[in-house]
Amino acid sequence: MDFFNFSINKILTREQSILDQARIRLLYYGFLLAIVGIGALFLSVYLQNLRVMSLTSGVTLLVVLALFKYLTYKPHWRTISHMLLVIGTLLNLATVFIILQDVNIITIQIIILVIVFSFYMLGQNWGMFFSLLNLLPVLIFMVMQYDHNYYIDFFKPEKADQSTTIIAIFANFILIIFIHSHFYTAFLKNIKQLKDTGEEQAALNIKFERAIEKAEKSSQVQSEFLSTMSHEIRTPLNAVIGMSNLLLMNNPRQDQSENLEILKFSANNLLAIVNDVLDFNKIESGKVVFEKIKFNLVELMQNICGGQIIKAEEKGLMFKLDIDSALRRKIIFGDPTRLTQIIFNLVSNAIKFTSQGNVWVRATCLEDRHNNITIGFSVKDSGIGIKKENLETIFEPFTQESITTTRQYGGTGLGLAIVKRLLELQGLQMHVSSKVNEGSEFSFNMEFPVSTEVIPQQKERTTEPQPQQPNVIELENMGSSLRILIAEDNPVNVMLMKKLFSKWKIVPTIAENGDRAVEIVQYGNFDIILMDLQMPVMNGFDASMEIRKMPDPAKANIPIIALTASALFDIRDQVTNAGMNDYVAKPFKPDELMEKIQNLVATVGS
Ligand code: ADP
Repeated sequence: MDFFNFSINKILTREQSILDQARIRLLYYGFLLAIVGIGALFLSVYLQNLRVMSLTSGVTLLVVLALFKYLTYKPHWRTISHMLLVIGTLLNLATVFIILQDVNIITIQIIILVIVFSFYMLGQNWGMFFSLLNLLPVLIFMVMQYDHNYYIDFFKPEKADQSTTIIAIFANFILIIFIHSHFYTAFLKNIKQLKDTGEEQAALNIKFERAIEKAEKSSQVQSEFLSTMSHEIRTPLNAVIGMSNLLLMNNPRQDQSENLEILKFSANNLLAIVNDVLDFNKIESGKVVFEKIKFNLVELMQNICGGQIIKAEEKGLMFKLDIDSALRRKIIFGDPTRLTQIIFNLVSNAIKFTSQGNVWVRATCLEDRHNNITIGFSVKDSGIGIKKENLETIFEPFTQESITTTRQYGGTGLGLAIVKRLLELQGLQMHVSSKVNEGSEFSFNMEFPVSTEVIPQQKERTTEPQPQQPNVIELENMGSSLRILIAEDNPVNVMLMKKLFSKWKIVPTIAENGDRAVEIVQYGNFDIILMDLQMPVMNGFDASMEIRKMPDPAKANIPIIALTASALFDIRDQVTNAGMNDYVAKPFKPDELMEKIQNLVATVGS
């Protein structure tokens, strides 16, 4: 049954373009018209007993019928068009050179049909080819006829009656009109569709833009929310850590001391998590700018590892810091804060995930050319290792190797994500190699410009990290004579500071905001100012700038230490730009604060 199914719907599909559909339709209906036309022609010449014409039109009819069947079987319009054009060309040649041996209106019609059909169906190149193929022989024939009154000897041209000519001319015209009208409609439809898609696209673009705007806004809101939340969490944490420090300084009983240590440890842990979230948030929102300042790599590495070696020793691990001797006397340019952050995270992980054996930290000079140096950093441990299939995922935010990791080791899964992003932002890559139960190695290479300065021989330190000794602060000689102004709006922090300073019998003066601080400095004398940065009425930056502008040089030059809670990045520049001497991040370690106070009072005061 399917063999007799000639429906056009069988061969039209949605995947075909409008133009291809139009081509298939043209062939389909064109065939129907041609079958009727050629059929009528065949009957007419057959009845007149014109043998050659009957044979030609009969064969043409059969071929057209076969092609029509082929089309409804498979819509290979291109092949069918080629075949039709070849047949048309042969017919044209046969009419001109054999059957009629003349060029008349029918020949012209056939040529026009070939031209129109070939261009519409097969495009520019094939259109040109078939047009010339049909045109040239006709021209040649006309020239020959003009010269010699030429005709072929072996065959006398057949003469059909007027009715046959009328049928042929009529059928040809109908075909030409049909092809034109069909393609004109398809052309209009195509333009309309283009216009519609254009409009749809414009509407979609607007939708996209709105969606992007919304997403950006929501990510900004989220980022601001995280920032605010982290700040809000840090402030009370500051109090918890500060209070634990104070209580620990009050000679607590053994059991109390243990509890206080746990309290302090947990609060510090929580603070590290909050800092990680804040850091990651900052990196993700693209707010990180890398510094290019001078620093001493050996000193930096020792500072990073100094604190960690205690942790490693507590766990019974061997900690080795190995710095290439070629790097010892070099001063390089880069971002020490970010480098610290990267190495600190890697070293903390190495210690955290190793229960016995070693942790090695290495800085090797890979290349030293002109004023640039490439350093290979590597942190290696003999710890639990990482499964091969997890080597990629551990760098994703909030991802740990397995769910048991949190239970056993704690952490948020943000450390490596931060490290990876920080390296990527500088166009660098982290390499990891690891074997389960044998250990892991994290390494990366970084290039630094080298300063022409070198560290003098005597200042050169050994590369062995020294465990940080808690500073013994000797404020006794300054004692209660030290005049400190504290600008701080948070009453808990004020109480904490007061208690802290009472240990050294110092009674600080308190200003509840920046404006008050400026006023108090005008009337009183102080050795040092501790300035909170976020305060109502006037913030710490503005207050410091006001103080630096004071006419009395003794007041304008009072050392100022910024106390900052939220700022983890870029704070150094901001603080110096506002004329402050130094900063401590809240919650500060009492020793660190005291050391800074002592140093500043000694240098600026002398
Ligand atoms: P966190 O340490 O907070 O869990 P990280 O992003 O720093 O988060 O690390 C992600 C995960 O990668 C860790 O939870 C751990 O499973 C794995 N990992 C990182 N460093 C090491 C290491 N040195 N040895 C074994 N596993 C590690």
